[in-house]
This record gives sequence, structure tokens and C-alpha cells, in this order.
Amino acid sequence: MISVVVPVYNEEKNLPLLMDRMEAALRAMERPYEIVFVDDGSRDRSLEILEGFVGRKGVRVVELTRNYGQHSAIMSGFSIVRGRIVVTLDADLQNPPEEIPGLVRAMEEGSYEVVGTVRVMRQDSLFRKVPSRVVNAMTRRITGVRMTDWGCMLRAYRREVVDRMVESQEYSTFIPALATLYAKRMTEIPVSHADRHGGVSNYTLARLLSLQFDLLTSFSEFPLKVLLYLGTLLAFGGMALGLLLGVLRLWYGPAWAEYGVFTLFAILFFFVGGLFLALGIMGQYVGRIYHEVRKRPRFTIRKVHGE
Ligand code: UDP
Ligand code: MG
Repeated sequence: MISVVVPVYNEEKNLPLLMDRMEAALRAMERPYEIVFVDDGSRDRSLEILEGFVGRKGVRVVELTRNYGQHSAIMSGFSIVRGRIVVTLDADLQNPPEEIPGLVRAMEEGSYEVVGTVRVMRQDSLFRKVPSRVVNAMTRRITGVRMTDWGCMLRAYRREVVDRMVESQEYSTFIPALATLYAKRMTEIPVSHADRHGGVSNYTLARLLSLQFDLLTSFSEFPLKVLLYLGTLLAFGGMALGLLLGVLRLWYGPAWAEYGVFTLFAILFFFVGGLFLALGIMGQYVGRIYHEVRKRPRFTIRKVHGE
């Protein structure tokens, strides 16, 4: 059985066409399937439209209590899937549902545990594509897995991997990276990519940054290490400067020292700025730890329609 999980946040314009295209693609595979839509606290008519799909073959709709974000929404869908192979895709038709059979075939033929995708001719603005390169390189480093495109959510996972991800109970996470912890055999295939069908992207710059920070802090301590090295360097630099100033003061006498006041201010600002930066990075980790220890649920399901 194939399970398809679709997170939905304000996608009323895209749902009818998405449903038809998905149904056609899945029917053509001639095997059991289910479609799990997750309404991530939409404020438009998305939930109403989704409820209208209940009753069509294999459709269930998870209604969350509020907006939890794309990755938590997918995770809530993961928590109720029944299939052996689980496919995720976006609701805005940027990921063509017609790619699902190819994804499943790749997984079964190579007995892979995770099949990622590379968007060929990605239809996004430069404002999205350029930062993506940086994030992809970073993700390759911190996961140690050589995949090209981490941002494309059209992916397939074996059920075992999905179950382990659900068990992980992490509050803020990035699903494609999390999956690498639990899978050994991974591959990626090229898929096509389209412009958003209707509506607008749900990601603002702030949300994108927050997601990247989740990725970095959930999977590495790299920023903390950088702080340690930088701090050590600055401390030694500071000591050297102090020594130099002492020597110069002895050499040039008290008159020389008077003019150093502004230099000292500049140096002080530099160090204080560095301290705040360090505090900020530590604060991010502390905040995330705080989030985790409170053990609030990552998502709360109000109701599963079609159960
Ligand atoms: N999404 C979600 N919750 C959110 C934001 C987005 O479930 O808080 C869903 C959205 O409906 C879509 C997918 O996640 O199915 C990707 O979102 P979007 O297309 O806005 O992101 P982009 O393609 O611009 O990265
Ligand atoms: Mg999109």
C-alpha cells in the first residue's frame, strides 16, 4: 500500500485540481493507496474542501488545532499512515503528482529506504534558489549524505523510516535531514517542477530563516564550535593587543596614551558586539532546549475525518 501525505495551509485554489491529478496518478498504478491530507490550521476554505473529499477512495483528513508549520503537519500525517511506502508532496502543485509512480518504482527497484528528488528546471525566484544552494551545501555537510536537493518535499520513505521519525519526538525539525538518521540506502531521482498553481507561497523570509536555523541547530553544534574558536582567537588577540599597548605606552610616554581613548572605544564595541552575537547563538540553542524540555506535543490533532 502507498500512502501519500499532503500538508495543506491555505490552498483552496489548488485542492480540487490536486485531488483529481493525484487520484488519476494513483489509480493508474493499480495498487492499494491512501491519501492523507493535513489541514495545518488553514484560514481559508481548505478544510471545507478537504472534508468534501472524504468518501473518495482512501482519503483521510487530519485536522490540526492550529498552524504548526509544514514539517510538523507532515509529521502528524506520518503518525497515522498505513502504507508500506510513504510519499510526501506539496499541495500547491509545484510537485507534479504524476511523478509519484516513478518515485515508488525507483524505491522498489533499488530497494531503497529513502528516495529524494532533484527539481529539474526549478520554477522559483532567484531569491529562493540562491539561498537554497547554501542550505543544500550545509545540509550535505551536517548529514554527511550526498544529496543534491534537500528542499524538494516530493520524496518517498519506507514505513520503518517514517515510524522512527515519528518516534523521535523532536519539536522543530527538518524531515529530509531527519530521515537520514534512520535510513542507510538512499538515492535521488530527477523530477519536474512547476510554478505554484494558485495562491501565494506561505514562506516569508523570516519563516525561511527560522526553518534553516531549525535545520542547523537540530542537526549540528557547528555554530557553537565556531563561537568557541572565535572566542579563543579574540581572547588571545585581546591579550596581545593589551601587551602591545603597554609597550607603546612605555615607549611614547603619557601624552601618546591620551589619543588612544577612541581606539579603545572602537575595540570595545567590537568585543561587545561579538559577545552579543555569541549570546544570541547560545540563546537560540537554549530556546530550543526549553522548547524540547517542556514536552508540549508537536502537533495536536483535533479530528481525523474519514476514520
Ligand atoms: N504548508 C503547511 N503549513 C505551513 C506552511 C506551508 O502545511 O505553515 C504547506 C503548504 O500548504 C504547501 C507546502 O507546505 O503544501 C509548501 O508550502 P509553500 O508552497 O508555501 O512553500 P514554498 O513552495 O514556497 O517553499
Ligand atoms: Mg510551494
